[in-house]
Amino acid sequence: MTEDNIKKVADILLKNKYIVALTGSGISVASGLRTFRGKNGLWEEYNPQALEISYFYEHRAESWDWIYKLFFEPLKNAQPNAAHYALAELENMGKLNAIITQNIDGLHQAAGSKNVIEFHGTTRNLICTKCGADYSRDEIDFSILPPRCAKCGEILKPDFVFFGEMIPHKAAEYAYHHAMHCNVMLIIGTSGVVMPAADLPRIAKQNNATLIEINLEQYNERFFAPDIFIQGDANVILPKLVEEIKK
Ligand code: ZN
Repeated sequence: MTEDNIKKVADILLKNKYIVALTGSGISVASGLRTFRGKNGLWEEYNPQALEISYFYEHRAESWDWIYKLFFEPLKNAQPNAAHYALAELENMGKLNAIITQNIDGLHQAAGSKNVIEFHGTTRNLICTKCGADYSRDEIDFSILPPRCAKCGEILKPDFVFFGEMIPHKAAEYAYHHAMHCNVMLIIGTSGVVMPAADLPRIAKQNNATLIEINLEQYNERFFAPDIFIQGDANVILPKLVEEIKK
């Protein structure tokens, strides 16, 4: 029963001190953003090979047409949803140490979460591929594509991880540290098939953390089995969980 499980999870969070959340694109669906995999996922419509870093460097100007369409245009109207706000509230209550997110949408920060590790980088910044200057997304005029560096004129790259690129060093370091030391990991809205992020729950489990999964469908069990699985929309489940903890 979902309600019983929510009570059980609230208890676990109340009893434990070091809690982290691992989130994926499923948490942003209620904000109007699409997932990459699964039904209606972006990869059903677009070829993920176009996100290869080598492809980008060979076709920078053309790449920007669909990079803008896929990643920047949808964000213009996207607002955090109840799941993002619930996680921000958990952090405020001292019941969430960090969010490790695979999302590049910045919605956790927009909801007020402070300790957010962007495992796959972010759309909040763009970097010059020549001189390394960095720009906030808000500074860029996307009506002229591709966006160019104000200093040297070179084409900018979004500061998220393309296929074939390394996970940002600091983000990886923090994420593995949390996975190794947390008592509880909440796994929310992720299909768990993208390595190395999919390995984080396994590492947590190996170090005796309790794994709690909140997903529309069961996470890929090749990597781990959750201790508690709550099937449903995080947008509905997480606010209930916060209410239960406040009781
Ligand atoms: Zn530059």
